[in-house]
Amino acid sequence: TPPAEKFEYQAEVSRLMDLIVNSLYSNKDVFLRELISNASDALDKLRFLSVTDPQLLKDTYDLDIRIQTDKDNGIITLTDTGIGMTHNEIVDCLGTIAQSGTAKFLKALKDSKDAGTDSNLIGQFGVGFYSAFLVCERVEVSTKSPKSDKQYVWEGEANSSSYTIREETDPAKLIPRGTRLTLHLKRDDKGFAHPEKIQKLVTNYSQFVSFPIYTWQEKGYTKEVDVDEDPAEAIKDEQDGKTEKKKKTKTVVERYWDWELANDTQPIWLRNSKEVTTEDYNEFYKKTFNEYLEPLASSHFSTEGEVEFKSILYVPSIAATGKDDIVNPKTKNIRLYVKRVFISDDFDGELFPRYLSFVKGVVDSNDLPLNVSREILQESRIVRIMRKRLVRKAFDMILGITMSENRDDYARFWENFGKHMKLGCIEDRENHKRIAPLLRFFSSQSEEDVISLDEYVENMKTEQKDIYYIASDSVTSARNTPFLEKLVEKDIEVLFLVDPIDEVAIQNLKSYKEKNFVDISKEDLDLGDKNEEKEKEMKQEFGQTCDWIKKRLGDKVASVQVSNRLSTSPCVLASGKFGWSANMERLMKAQTV
Ligand code: ADP
Ligand code: MG
Repeated sequence: TPPAEKFEYQAEVSRLMDLIVNSLYSNKDVFLRELISNASDALDKLRFLSVTDPQLLKDTYDLDIRIQTDKDNGIITLTDTGIGMTHNEIVDCLGTIAQSGTAKFLKALKDSKDAGTDSNLIGQFGVGFYSAFLVCERVEVSTKSPKSDKQYVWEGEANSSSYTIREETDPAKLIPRGTRLTLHLKRDDKGFAHPEKIQKLVTNYSQFVSFPIYTWQEKGYTKEVDVDEDPAEAIKDEQDGKTEKKKKTKTVVERYWDWELANDTQPIWLRNSKEVTTEDYNEFYKKTFNEYLEPLASSHFSTEGEVEFKSILYVPSIAATGKDDIVNPKTKNIRLYVKRVFISDDFDGELFPRYLSFVKGVVDSNDLPLNVSREILQESRIVRIMRKRLVRKAFDMILGITMSENRDDYARFWENFGKHMKLGCIEDRENHKRIAPLLRFFSSQSEEDVISLDEYVENMKTEQKDIYYIASDSVTSARNTPFLEKLVEKDIEVLFLVDPIDEVAIQNLKSYKEKNFVDISKEDLDLGDKNEEKEKEMKQEFGQTCDWIKKRLGDKVASVQVSNRLSTSPCVLASGKFGWSANMERLMKAQTV
């Protein structure tokens, strides 16, 4: 046999292992969830690849997970028939940290003050494969990829900075395909190697795994067995004149071991929504998207008719930072299934517009081909219809948050995803009607709390026809602008657009409930209080003054006019009707610098 090769862990892995082994004591249970989820991922990958390459299944057609316990020796074995790993994949996957969940965990640890001791974190994130070392002193991973004709064994120990890889040579240990983990439990954790314990953990943690999970359980059945008749009894019967002989039997329990299905493999989105609780939805969300916070809202629906699909969508409770920014999202937020087969989480862009890229969820279609590609998706009429429905459902879900009993919910949504809604005003004309009621702004009459356009409209004066706004860089400077004077005097509310994107968003909307948005800093602002007589008088009186000022300022201004829009300030710089507002000009300048 070729000797085992020795490898050193990447530094981060060593650090993580050290932490797991020495600092995290509670909530050890999660190791099983993590290992099962890896097995499930491996089965997903295989099932997906086998759609185009059925040969991959030839070594075994079973796609399942089996867990066996040996309580005398404190060993658990967990076997899947998934994609397995080649030698190189073992080194890449089990010696370095490239995986999102684990990276997130490390970051959260860094952020949390009380790093080493916060064992709760591990429960929230899981740290993937390495959580095996919460309970193990030694782990063997024996794995066979269909791409390789050899089976390899990775072996690692709890307090070691290196691991080994060797070829599997024991014929008794060969598997047709997939991965078998042999978990040698620490002395204090041998209790996990009990069939009932494992069964309980599986039902607790793995209810959303869509492959069957079998556990090895002791079973029993009762059976009647003949007993030889007691001779004394026989004589007695004869004396009593009972001639007909009764056969005597007794009941015994026959014991044996067998696999028992431990989970319900029907995906949650296929269940009847009446039978699924909010907790179930939230649990599914956290498990599927590696999240530790509950979502703000969820929506489970199916569509019928022209295009059939089922979906569960979620609004996260905080915006993701970093890699999936608003302009260039790459989020893996939508998991696409075709007939229950996981296809990809790379198609968010095809199923949702980018301003809704924060929405997470699963979509399962019966109408798409299993070997669906980005090109197919982009051309597909079915996908266009799906996209439309998904977007509508997403808006219904968001609208639901505005009606939540807890007012903070929408405040939270707006704080995290308000920008996305404004981007929607710019990028999705078709859905203006759905986006506009979700917008929130400060105003001259509400500087502390944002208001909705509906609230604005309700508060309009009877003679008021337009929705007034002023764009500025802050509430304070908006409040102090001279343009506001006349409107404040008349008690007319003015929206304060203080986010750079606000003005462009509003200009794209143009109107709300047939009321136009009007910038109060534009020259032709008409408050419906024109007094032509008086204006004529004023023009006559100050005409020469205006000409003189225009001459002095030259090209710096387009014109100098007498205005009725001020009440206390002597003059104001207004923008031309067709020009940029001062705010836009400021923004454009900032852009070109
Ligand atoms: P993650 O699951 O987030 O990718 P893990 O630490 O749980 O991170 O697993 C690391 C990697 O090891 C996986 O991405 C996968 O490539 C590989 N792996 C782990 N378990 C298995 C398995 N049972 N079968 C095949 N590959 C596996
Ligand atoms: Mg994992």
